[in-house]
Amino acid sequence: MERLDLKRVESMVLAQGLKMTPQRRAIIEYLQKCDTHPTAEEILQAVNLQFPMTSRPTVYNTLNWLKGEGLIREVFESSPVRFDPNTSPHHHFVCEGCARVSDVSPLDIVPPSFASLPGGPRVESYQITIRGQCAGCQQQSGSVSLFA
Ligand SMILES: [Zn+2]
Ligand SMILES: [Zn+2]
Repeated sequence: MERLDLKRVESMVLAQGLKMTPQRRAIIEYLQKCDTHPTAEEILQAVNLQFPMTSRPTVYNTLNWLKGEGLIREVFESSPVRFDPNTSPHHHFVCEGCARVSDVSPLDIVPPSFASLPGGPRVESYQITIRGQCAGCQQQSGSVSLFA
């Protein structure tokens, strides 16, 4: 699986003559272990717990650099833009209840057939977005709502 890796990023940063600041390292460390497809604001909040002076431009610049290097991907499954440290081909499940976006392995989906697509395009990749209620939200909707 191709996934954001701090050690690899550090060597790329060095090779490009850039500086790895503690804030940048914290952003990458957070993304590396995060499986919730965080937004830029969520990343900013998380990194600010560690480095309270981390600025919005630092987060956005770091995300843009990582994206440019192909180390993270943007995900548009539920607005706003989210960031994905998993750059292997995979699908997403979007919970309509809590808006959480989680990875779905291609191994868990029967591959669709593209043979009958009009015009016979050569398909190089595809991504399936599955929408519904995650396990947690199913439990919640099964119980009596406090706000009913
Ligand atoms: Zn949910
Ligand atoms: Zn993903």
